[in-house]
Amino acid sequence: MTDCIFCKIVRGDIPANKVYEDDEVLAFKDIRPAAPVHILLIPKRHIESMLNTSREDEALLGKMLALTPVIAREHGLGAGYKTAINTGLAGGQEVFHLHLHILGTPQP
Ligand code: 5GP
Ligand code: ZN
Repeated sequence: MTDCIFCKIVRGDIPANKVYEDDEVLAFKDIRPAAPVHILLIPKRHIESMLNTSREDEALLGKMLALTPVIAREHGLGAGYKTAINTGLAGGQEVFHLHLHILGTPQP
């Protein structure tokens, strides 16, 4: 998707504060953080939303969920954190490239 903002971040066309990357997924800091730590984890492949996933995406979605504690711990959220996936207009989704929010406050 050429005009998708998160695809542009994946391609490096616009900058992002990246915190994790592999061949399938990318995590970067949210530009308007709603918590002291606010990271977005996305598939590199353009998937509009959870409404556009199928059982074939099980491995990718499982990988994303399994990565959340790893990324969270690296940002001081070892005591806990919140995740959110806003899905569809009715679910409050604003950017239509699937993303998982990781939110929290580092504990001393
Ligand atoms: P949604 O409401 O779709 O679940 O969340 C979209 C999120 O993407 C928002 O928290 C917003 O701050 C973030 N966001 C939108 N545009 C950009 C951008 O260009 N760069 C980064 N890093 N975050 C963005
Ligand atoms: Zn995209």
